[in-house]
Amino acid sequence: MVRSTDVLVIGGGATGVGVARDLALRGVDVTLVERSGLAGGTTGRSHGLLHSGARYAETDPEGATECLAENRILRSIAGACVRETGGYFVQLDADDPDYFDEKRAACRDLGIDVETVGSDALREAVPGVTDRAERAMHVPDGVIYPSRLVAATAADAREHGATIHTYAPVEDLHVGGGRVTGATVGGDAAGRFEATAVVNAAGAWAESCAELAGVDVPMRPTRGVMVAVDYPDLEPVLNRCRPPADGDIVVPHDREAVLGTTSVAVDDPDDDPREEWEVERVREECAAMLPAVADAPVGRTYWGVRPLYDPDEAARDGRGVSRDFFLLDHAADGVDGFVSVVGGKLTTHRAMAEATADLVCRRLGTDAPCRTATEPLTAAADPDRLAELVAEFDACAPADGVSE
Ligand SMILES: Cc1cc2nc3c(=O)[nH]c(=O)nc-3n(C[C@H](O)[C@H](O)[C@H](O)COP(=O)(O)OP(=O)(O)OC[C@H]3O[C@@H](n4cnc5c(N)ncnc54)[C@H](O)[C@@H]3O)c2cc1C
Repeated sequence: MVRSTDVLVIGGGATGVGVARDLALRGVDVTLVERSGLAGGTTGRSHGLLHSGARYAETDPEGATECLAENRILRSIAGACVRETGGYFVQLDADDPDYFDEKRAACRDLGIDVETVGSDALREAVPGVTDRAERAMHVPDGVIYPSRLVAATAADAREHGATIHTYAPVEDLHVGGGRVTGATVGGDAAGRFEATAVVNAAGAWAESCAELAGVDVPMRPTRGVMVAVDYPDLEPVLNRCRPPADGDIVVPHDREAVLGTTSVAVDDPDDDPREEWEVERVREECAAMLPAVADAPVGRTYWGVRPLYDPDEAARDGRGVSRDFFLLDHAADGVDGFVSVVGGKLTTHRAMAEATADLVCRRLGTDAPCRTATEPLTAAADPDRLAELVAEFDACAPADGVSE
């Protein structure tokens, strides 16, 4: 069977569905293919932190500013796909007070609302926080429900004319005359797709997808573990106020606290050995902030693989690799119409999608403006409808309570 579309998007994580929605709202004919259920990759295995930007304020002001802007946008358009919990950066007795001061000053410079609280006020706001907490700053962090966000975004794209195929892996990309012409897809959408443009939004798998078109997209993925423990009493996100390290974030997720994470280089995103030391390290480190999580029953443990792009082999330690996003126009590699979008964060997926759709629209000669920053996701206000969509797109994921 041969199908035609203007734009074929590969990957049904946050980035891919974001691109599909953005293009559909601009009136572009778009088809998305995902090899599993939606959110079956990293998106459904993330921590679910809606970053305020505070985590990156002193090291990456540009990335932090983007997080802040996207945090505000998602709060206004994404309804019950996000939760406004607030968050704290907690300084323990062993932590460098200068680091706290530096982060707070950087947040203020960037316009991130911060409020400093002493240990007593923190204990009142966060029952169970350690006695070792000396002070904390409140920031506008929040929580994302990745399954809901991806399902609502895909549904909105579909309402605006997009076609979404799950269990539809891209098996080959077709290139002729110096441009991409389509793809061979397997699974539930088996057949040939003709397309004017193809967007590779395959996250940590972007390298293997690009190879199908003879293009090199070097990825340096790192894996991280999350441990969800039974802990119904946590309201805000907790971040340890120290330079990024293993086990420094606790995210409230319904009746659980999700502890994370680690950063270990992996060669193949599908070959992810699961190491018990990561689980133990994360529990131990997070228990330094919230002691009861050390003994709380574990609901599930899951790993995600960061889609880090790094053409430089030298930066192999994981945390040195940029977490910004990269938009690669493969016309420069001799394959016109083929674009890869890699890196970034769940929080910034909409901005990644906007930049990608801008580029694709320029190539298609379409000048319709982006509308995704202001148009609410249609299903997002209705939790029952969101549950139906999550089931329909098989977007149930470990990040939202499904055990692997
Ligand atoms: C441990 C960890 C914790 C994180 N925590 C946070 C956080 O708290 N907040 C935050 O903002 N960000 C967080 N991130 C980052 C964030 O999760 C990712 O950047 C984001 O989800 C990536 O989305 P994506 O759509 O680009 O990739 P993915 O979600 O991986 O989507 C790519 C999709 O492509 C599909 N695919 C692959 N090959 C093919 C093929 N041949 N054909 C069809 N489909 C294919 C895959 O199945 C996958 O679903 C975290 C990441 C990790 C690893």
